Amino acid sequence: MNSLDTSIEYLKGVGPKRAEILQQELGIYRFYDLLSHFPYRYIDRTRFYQIRELTPDSGFVQLKGIITQVEIIEGKGRKARMNAIFTDGSGTIQLVWFSGIKWIRNQVKENSRYIIFGKLNVFNGKLSIAHPEMDLLEDEQAVLPVGLQPLYNSTEKAKSAGMDSKGLSRLIKTLLEQHKEPFKETLPEYFVQKLRLLSRDEALRQIHQPENTEKMQRARYRLKFEELFFVQLRLLRVMGNRKANAPGFVFEKIDNYFHRFYHEHLPFELTNAQKKVLKEIRKDVLNGSQMNRLLQGDVGSGKTIVALFTMLMAIDNNYQATLLAPTEILATQHYKGISELVAPLRLNIRLLTGSTKKKEREEIHAMLEEGSLHILIGTHAILEEKVVFKNLGLAIIDEQHRFGVAQRARLWQKNKISPHILVMTATPIPRTLAMTLYGDLDVSVIDELPPGRKPVKTIHRYELNRQKAYDLVDAEIKKGRQAYIVFPLIEESEKLDYKNLMAGYEHVRNAFPQYHVSILHGKMTPEAKEFEMKRFVKGETQIMVSTTVIEVGVNVPNASVMVIESAERFGLSQLHQLRGRVGRGAEQSYCILITPYKISEEGRKRMETMVRTNDGFEIAEVDLQLRGPGDIEGTRQSGLMNFKIADIIKDQKLVSLSRDAARAVLEADPELQEERHQVLVKTLEELNKEKTNWSKIS
Ligand code: ADP
Ligand code: MG
Repeated sequence: MNSLDTSIEYLKGVGPKRAEILQQELGIYRFYDLLSHFPYRYIDRTRFYQIRELTPDSGFVQLKGIITQVEIIEGKGRKARMNAIFTDGSGTIQLVWFSGIKWIRNQVKENSRYIIFGKLNVFNGKLSIAHPEMDLLEDEQAVLPVGLQPLYNSTEKAKSAGMDSKGLSRLIKTLLEQHKEPFKETLPEYFVQKLRLLSRDEALRQIHQPENTEKMQRARYRLKFEELFFVQLRLLRVMGNRKANAPGFVFEKIDNYFHRFYHEHLPFELTNAQKKVLKEIRKDVLNGSQMNRLLQGDVGSGKTIVALFTMLMAIDNNYQATLLAPTEILATQHYKGISELVAPLRLNIRLLTGSTKKKEREEIHAMLEEGSLHILIGTHAILEEKVVFKNLGLAIIDEQHRFGVAQRARLWQKNKISPHILVMTATPIPRTLAMTLYGDLDVSVIDELPPGRKPVKTIHRYELNRQKAYDLVDAEIKKGRQAYIVFPLIEESEKLDYKNLMAGYEHVRNAFPQYHVSILHGKMTPEAKEFEMKRFVKGETQIMVSTTVIEVGVNVPNASVMVIESAERFGLSQLHQLRGRVGRGAEQSYCILITPYKISEEGRKRMETMVRTNDGFEIAEVDLQLRGPGDIEGTRQSGLMNFKIADIIKDQKLVSLSRDAARAVLEADPELQEERHQVLVKTLEELNKEKTNWSKIS
């Protein structure tokens, strides 16, 4: 057994009681877990500050000087406090103690020289340090702290058992001292040299006990790289294995439906981006292995037509195709849009949702099984076991973030040979995040909007000025256009939101007595939704009051204003999706974000970002920075974000670098058979073992 697998209980200074706390509080079970409990920060004790250069955000500082005055303040009914004045000749600051005062009073000597260390605060308008660490300079014996001190995360419970940052630091020191032999290398030697990385042994020692800042940074770099590299290596191997082992249908012919539609019925010219993506897809469906492709394209970039062409490739080769949408509204809309586009081709296309009537459902099932149905469009209902295709060749999933990975997998199992899979998402994901989240998929991007689109003008207004927003709505409707007014729907307070929506609806009706107003929300029956949607699409109503059910995919090109109420309650990507509902025609469109005057700093940043840019990828980057990757849908469950040291946002360059490195290895040696790569095979095995151990525990 590897000595690093030893239970943490057996480390000197731990024992059974503390071991239990380490396990429960910090997830540290083995020596190895303690070794990879990396510092989250360091404090620089090599540097002395002058008091006059301090500012309220200097953070942790180290000062040299004398204490001139000590005063104990007995609070009336409050706890006592001790203040001291500290000076270094350049200025003075206050030191403050709130507990252990008696003892400290006896320790502190006035007019003696001290080195003090602590975090700077502003207290009663003055710079101060509470409970500083103090070392008497005159004390010849004192071993003064030097160098970079690591800070470790801990918890209240662990702290009270002596395992605060310092306590953990001591345990790690013991571990490092007792592990005399070098820690095993996990990367090939040629790699370490080429990328000028520290050896793993040196990195692990330097990260906990850095000699200097440069060494500390190189240690962090090496360990981050290693962590990201193995994630990428795994993902690329999954992808490679699938390509090697998952046979795919070959869609050789594109001579019938595809060509006819392209040359005779396509109502516009494809953008270059659409053409490029279709070429990528075409290559995938010709090479004999299963396609797993993610198609990213901003709202309105024209993904649907790409989906349609891909389906025609399948049909030209006598396969069936299916298109899954996350909501009934969207499925219905796809069904109508696509049916209309390819009407001259006389294809058999059907819609299957939760509200499809039994008789029709049975008809669809029969046609699917005998193979006479070309395209099935629908919602989750398609995934039910009763739904059996004769020869499903292609499954397209629109707006992937609403479908789980498990559902993706279920689709694959519908045939012996898995159909080709195309996942379409309008939630732009920053490139490096996509590399990890969808690292086992090939990625295509439509990075160009159809010509003639005017960017949506976005305006932020306070509630007080709502009338101005309404004036714009009125002006646009007078020009023959239509408007959305959206209210938030947040699960935790669904009732309240419903009330808000209804109040808002009344308010809108009173404000626009001359117009017809539709309403759409999640609690309505599918028939009622359909009815309201239809009225709006046909232009019978001028205003659509709605919750976010219209967020995804709804396409009414005549709508030119999107008013979002309580916009501060929406996330950035949601706001961007909503805005994407307008600006679909050639005329100028508007998005108005309405918020109270007082909103959080972060909320303000979101509004500013929306006003500044229409670029979905830029918005996704800001979103990621504001929220962190843990909040992006699906990331938390994926477990891919549980990095020990790497930070997928801050370390984007390293993500790319590690993916390139992993790809280079697999290109040279796809099966990892070369001698020099055996170290990788071994590490992958150990990582897998670690994963299974973990799942047993939790
Ligand atoms: P999304 O990518 O958001 O799903 P859609 O596929 O719904 O976008 O397309 C948005 C609109 O743009 C539709 O009305 C569609 O007909 C139109 N469209 C798509 N591609 C083009 C193109 N190349 N030229 C002009 N209009 C296009
Ligand atoms: Mg769409």
